Amino acid sequence: MSDTKRVYRFGSDANGVDVTEGASSMKYMLGGKGANLAEMCRIGLPVPGGYTITCQTCMEYADAGNVWPAGALDEIEAATRDLEERMGKRLGDARDPLLVSVRSGAPFSMPGMMDTVLNLGLNDASAQGLIAQTGDPHFVWDSYRRFIQMFSDVVMGVDAELFENALTDKRLIAGVRTDAELSADDLHELVEEFKGIFRANVSAAEHPELIVDGAIAFPQDPAVQLKLAIEAVFGSWMNERACIYRKANDIPDDLGTAVNVQAMAYGNKGESSATGVAFTRNPANGARERYGDFLVNAQGEDVVAGIRNTEPIQKMGEYPALAQAAADLERIFQILEGHFHDMCDIEFTIEQGKLWMLQTRVGKRTAQAALRIAIDMVEEGLIDRAEAVRRIDPAQLDQLLHPQFDASADFEVLARGLNASPGAAVGEVVFSSDDAVAAVAEGRKVILVRWETNPDDLKGMVAAEGILTSHGGKTSHAAVIARGMGAPCVCGAEAIQIDAAAKEARVAGTDIVLREGDVISIDGTEGIVVAGAVPLVSVELTGDLETILSWADEIRLRPGNTHPYHVRVNADNPEDAERALGFGAEAIGLCRTEHMFLGERKNIIQTFILSDDPAVREQALSDLLAVQTGDFLKMFRTMDGRDVVVRLIDPPLHEFLDAPRELEVDIARREAAGAPEAELAPLRARLRRIDGMAEMNPMLGLRGVRLSFVFPELPLMQVRAVASAAATLIRDEGLDPRPEVMVPLVALATEQVQMRAVCEQVIAEVAAEFGVALDIPVGTMLELPRACLTADEIARSADFLCFGTNDLTQTTFGFSRDDAESKFMPVYLHRKLVEKNPFETIDKAVLELVRMAVEKARSVKPAMHCGVCGEHGGDPASIRGLFNTAGVDYVSCSPYRVPIARLAAAQAKLAEPVR
Ligand code: PEP
Ligand code: MG
Repeated sequence: MSDTKRVYRFGSDANGVDVTEGASSMKYMLGGKGANLAEMCRIGLPVPGGYTITCQTCMEYADAGNVWPAGALDEIEAATRDLEERMGKRLGDARDPLLVSVRSGAPFSMPGMMDTVLNLGLNDASAQGLIAQTGDPHFVWDSYRRFIQMFSDVVMGVDAELFENALTDKRLIAGVRTDAELSADDLHELVEEFKGIFRANVSAAEHPELIVDGAIAFPQDPAVQLKLAIEAVFGSWMNERACIYRKANDIPDDLGTAVNVQAMAYGNKGESSATGVAFTRNPANGARERYGDFLVNAQGEDVVAGIRNTEPIQKMGEYPALAQAAADLERIFQILEGHFHDMCDIEFTIEQGKLWMLQTRVGKRTAQAALRIAIDMVEEGLIDRAEAVRRIDPAQLDQLLHPQFDASADFEVLARGLNASPGAAVGEVVFSSDDAVAAVAEGRKVILVRWETNPDDLKGMVAAEGILTSHGGKTSHAAVIARGMGAPCVCGAEAIQIDAAAKEARVAGTDIVLREGDVISIDGTEGIVVAGAVPLVSVELTGDLETILSWADEIRLRPGNTHPYHVRVNADNPEDAERALGFGAEAIGLCRTEHMFLGERKNIIQTFILSDDPAVREQALSDLLAVQTGDFLKMFRTMDGRDVVVRLIDPPLHEFLDAPRELEVDIARREAAGAPEAELAPLRARLRRIDGMAEMNPMLGLRGVRLSFVFPELPLMQVRAVASAAATLIRDEGLDPRPEVMVPLVALATEQVQMRAVCEQVIAEVAAEFGVALDIPVGTMLELPRACLTADEIARSADFLCFGTNDLTQTTFGFSRDDAESKFMPVYLHRKLVEKNPFETIDKAVLELVRMAVEKARSVKPAMHCGVCGEHGGDPASIRGLFNTAGVDYVSCSPYRVPIARLAAAQAKLAEPVR
């Protein structure tokens, strides 16, 4: 036997003394469920006894090709014997049997993704024993048929439909509506029928251990049942839906799942029994109210499956047989919040009036609820402001910034359902997840419409814009998953009568039929379905978000151990600048001036590049000067008193030209139509010039600062536009414009030295012309490894540095930023060659280049102001590294990411290193 402890007990011994070995801090070992079961035992809550097999055992088993590590089975057997002793019952006992549940439980919650087996230990003998004990054959046969059904489906992979069909047939024959109305005899017959289905569908060749008297039989030995069930739960860590869920939620694949083996508590023992799931607060909007559903006389899976209509948790106290349990539950809600200082969700069962806790964890919530709960808990003294800021997932804020229905839009509500996950979406109706994935691959936007979703629908839910179901409550699968993903979802819209096979849905009370491809809109904040496309708008940043962000700003802008963490915006026009100020941006960290050459202005720059006539080129330049000056006037006015970093023209020039192949076709057409040579000659000359500019590797070619050396008129014009706009505002409007000029794609200190001289000369000329003092810093954009490696040299002639981490990623990896993500990055991610897409989340080598360059630059200029304006500036995972490891002063990102960056920067500040 190895020294590794693989099994941890929880619950009491036969004398009621707690023998729990785990704790909530052990979730990487015991999984979230196992760790918190142990914690609940420690704080004296009623938990049925059991044990947890560690996640590490799962990984060892999987890594060895589904082979048990030495000693593990012995340890499990000993724990099972110990549990039997503690409970005073034995598995399979023909008089008073112990029954157990076998549940998965990974370090991070993966609702419904992995397997569970309930009622394990039932066999023909123990069923009789249980009847003798309970005097309730209905309960026993119901439990046994559920066990066979679940074991066959989950452990042996038998098609679950076969059992559902048999159950439906039985209801029809018995003339009853629900399973609960079936008689004990009906259920007993079903047990035999289910065993028959098992025999007919399990392969003897694959399962020789289940052969009895020459034929396959449902296993009667509880030890065999248990071993197979645990193996199935381990195996479910690698099932397709669990893998998709982990990928979508950034959960590492090598954590494994724990297995919890626990004495059963029964919610299906009659009218004084029940089962339910609940939250200590409302997870949809954060209100201080209990939230959840329960079902009388049912087992847990009935609640989540959305099969029977549940009742709201508030009503439980109205049932006399459940009143005591409801009061106990309320007390436990308070204990849990007091202990975990957070909103908890729980699963519970009431067995003949006695409440048992089966699970608790910190509950998932919408972004809106997360903000509300954090603010309330600060007011209640449960947490402080820093903790409130720490608790909000910056990525989740996207939910709040998601579009909503335009309030001024005119629309008729087609159907109503539950407002299960906020945000609005428009798309074509599809009725299956496969169709959703296929449609999205063709570039269409879809709404996935399902009766109720199940874990296999995950891929469709990820692909769809929104989800609409006709059944299920707010704790149903669709609701829980959509909330976690931040996808809009309307649940339980019963008027939508779906015929998935015919790919259509009738809308009750109307003669409307929705067919695949019809466009609908859903609003998950209100729970509304509308035919056709409703215009969407984005929400304003107000209320709770403002409060949390103001706390975040307090934190990130105080000096702390290092320096304040600033957030700027990438904006190229006054509208974006205005919006970004509303989102809380402090300055413009990147204005890409080439974005100002789009639309009709493209003609002017084309004329400049393509003409041989100096007079025509000069006119084009002066036109460009006029429009750029006008743009900068507006931008600097909007940003009065705040820095605006203007980057000189950057992309390869042929991006501004017509596609040569199209021009060639045009010329050929004109030739065929007999166009005169006078018309064709200039077109041919234009084509020759465009062809002459084409490069094999434009991203590594004539772009960035190189353009300024090949076309020296361009930077002269741009710097003049910047300086004159600033001078005009100072002289004529008494404003305080603060432009800065940034030179892109610098590789050599000499490039920066020469460009700086050019810029300074123009600035001095303009200052003299306007008779004002102009202080316009000239900085360098570091986007190439060579520049980072020589940042100390470059720093000598740069007033500030800003890292273009998009290009820096491209040039560090040698991965084309234009092609990598469509051509090979998916394969790299799938094969785990890279953990994350380096164009989204900064790679450690790129981060190291930034860190080293900042250090080198500050070695010559200790106060050098350094920022980042690549996409990573808006990525929460990158922001922490950029501030805390690389030591930059600010990140700059697109307007909608500014709130996310403010929060992520505050969280980074809370974790800042001591310097
Ligand atoms: C960058 O390269 O990171 C950057 C911000 O510049 P652009 O994306 O315009 O190349
Ligand atoms: Mg760049």
